Amino acid sequence: MAAVSSVLAKLGDVRSWQEDLYQDLHRHPELSHREHGTAAKVAERLGRCGFGVHQGVGGTGVVGVLERGEGPTVLLRADMDALPVREATGLPYASTVTATDASGHEMPVAHACGHDMHVTCLLGAAELLASGAGHWHGTLVALFQPAEETGDGARGMVDGGLAGLIPALDVALAQHVLPGPAGHVGTRAGPALSAADSMRVTLHGRGGHGSMPQATVDPVVLAAMIVVRLQTVVSREVAPAETAVLTVGSIRAGTKSNIIPGQAVLELNVRTYSEQARARVLDAIRRIVTAECRASDCPEEPDFELFDRFPLTVNDPATTERVAAAFRGFFGDRAGELDQQSASEDFSTIPTALGTPYTYWGVGCVDAGAYRKAADAGRVAQDIPVNHAPAFAPVIQPTLDTGTQALVVAALDWLGS
Ligand code: ZN
Ligand code: ZN
Repeated sequence: MAAVSSVLAKLGDVRSWQEDLYQDLHRHPELSHREHGTAAKVAERLGRCGFGVHQGVGGTGVVGVLERGEGPTVLLRADMDALPVREATGLPYASTVTATDASGHEMPVAHACGHDMHVTCLLGAAELLASGAGHWHGTLVALFQPAEETGDGARGMVDGGLAGLIPALDVALAQHVLPGPAGHVGTRAGPALSAADSMRVTLHGRGGHGSMPQATVDPVVLAAMIVVRLQTVVSREVAPAETAVLTVGSIRAGTKSNIIPGQAVLELNVRTYSEQARARVLDAIRRIVTAECRASDCPEEPDFELFDRFPLTVNDPATTERVAAAFRGFFGDRAGELDQQSASEDFSTIPTALGTPYTYWGVGCVDAGAYRKAADAGRVAQDIPVNHAPAFAPVIQPTLDTGTQALVVAALDWLGS
């Protein structure tokens, strides 16, 4: 704890530039794989406080390495990308940025998931640990990952040669801002975030005139049957104690009221908390869709395409208990247990590929008074905008201080001993 208080004594020095940098990043969000401006700011700041800096790792990834003699190696990770969301926070530093997609369509861009907060907290922690390097020994790796939202940024850094740039790791740590009271942190051992799979299903019917259904295989009716039947996967095939979500987020078919289309396309999203449940739900979808297509006498088998896949985040129990104890020591009753999240993350791809134990914790980002008021009224879901919502707006403080402190406290539990 002596190392923690010595290193964090300089928090006031980093706080002022952190608040400016956070607003700057928030005003200038960049979509997945395009985090060029953010990565440049990160690399510049890491270089200035003495880190060896690797840029362009897996695209726009940045890895800073700071060695201070013999000792453990700790990786701290932040993600950098924003989302195609039109910000509706009304904040003076709200984003008005737009970007064009591959087909030339303009779309709004905003930091609706709070990754700008993660970047700013990690840069602050990196500078604090660099200037307080007399209080610890070992190696600190500060990793800034692109493209978390598309689920392929962590994989890109692994495939881009991450292992060759850093020493063997003892632990990997990451955090995310969530709709909880600002100033609070939450840890959870075991499965903490779900695995996510998206699936595109193409149904092949036989098109024709809307007045002559007998000459067609109508994929609209078929799609409707499938949507209804898929509701039984979670309710009838997954054990009640197991948590799973299956959402049909998109149905596309047809162009006109009197034409029966030849095809329908469904897009599904699945969240599960074990590899067994994951396999079971995906198999059930394939089985039900295939059987419904046969029942409708489709001329062709359906096509299945998996995309936007995220791994399970299973926090190592020993690592999590160590971080939780350090948090209890530092934050007192502001350190608690994180609820199991139905959101997903690709962070674990990195420690899994490197064979490193990891834990991933939550940091509250909603004004504590406003949160308590909503909680007392039983209206958190209605009144507190969640990540990815246009109105998602973390309060700058104490969120920045807390996220920065959490990274320093956790890292020093390894590096400061
Ligand atoms: Zn997100
Ligand atoms: Zn996120």
